[in-house]
Amino acid sequence: MTSICETRIKCAVCGKRSHHDNVASTSIFCKPDLDGRPGAMARGTMPFWIQRCPRCGYCAPELNAKILGRKRFMEKEIYQNQLNDPNYPELCNTFLCFALLEENAGNLSAAAWAIISGAWICDDAKRNKKRKHALELRSRAVIMIERALEKGEKYDKQAGYSESVLVDLLRRSGQFNKAEKACKKALKMDIDGVTRKILNFQKKLIRRQDIGCHCQGEV
Ligand SMILES: [Zn+2]
Repeated sequence: MTSICETRIKCAVCGKRSHHDNVASTSIFCKPDLDGRPGAMARGTMPFWIQRCPRCGYCAPELNAKILGRKRFMEKEIYQNQLNDPNYPELCNTFLCFALLEENAGNLSAAAWAIISGAWICDDAKRNKKRKHALELRSRAVIMIERALEKGEKYDKQAGYSESVLVDLLRRSGQFNKAEKACKKALKMDIDGVTRKILNFQKKLIRRQDIGCHCQGEV
């Protein structure tokens, strides 16, 4: 069961007040996918994760929250093009705009999370063209997580979580050699039993050159 509540919120860029739905509570019936995508019903709440200002196009989890450098960055062509890029579903564009803002602010893990979320939206799209975009977004997310790890930024506090998500992104974007190397490296880390099991499962999937979506319940 998911319950939604409506809030009126003031944009931290242009000051316009607009109505947005928020998730008050939701149920999770299945384990997450290997890349952390929540199970049903929580996954159905994605349209409420990022808000978009109807006037200026600011995209953030809460429109009244300030992301460093947002105003100047939003004037750039790259942001304005992304807002209404016809290649992606509208919701995906919202996540990708948020990703651009976070990347610009130096928050690379948050940017990676938003790009991965964009890939999930493309996964759900019926047309094959959009699935091709899911693949491209996973490749972009790989680069973002690698940059974040180089900076010492973790996607999640849990040891090995970023590395485990990275392995899944590499496998699902068909980069099997890199996926295998990343998997071996992560298995050498001091990680918990669940993460270890996931990585061992990934090893099997990589050997089979399986680029499909798998859930933690299969591990
Ligand atoms: Zn605004």
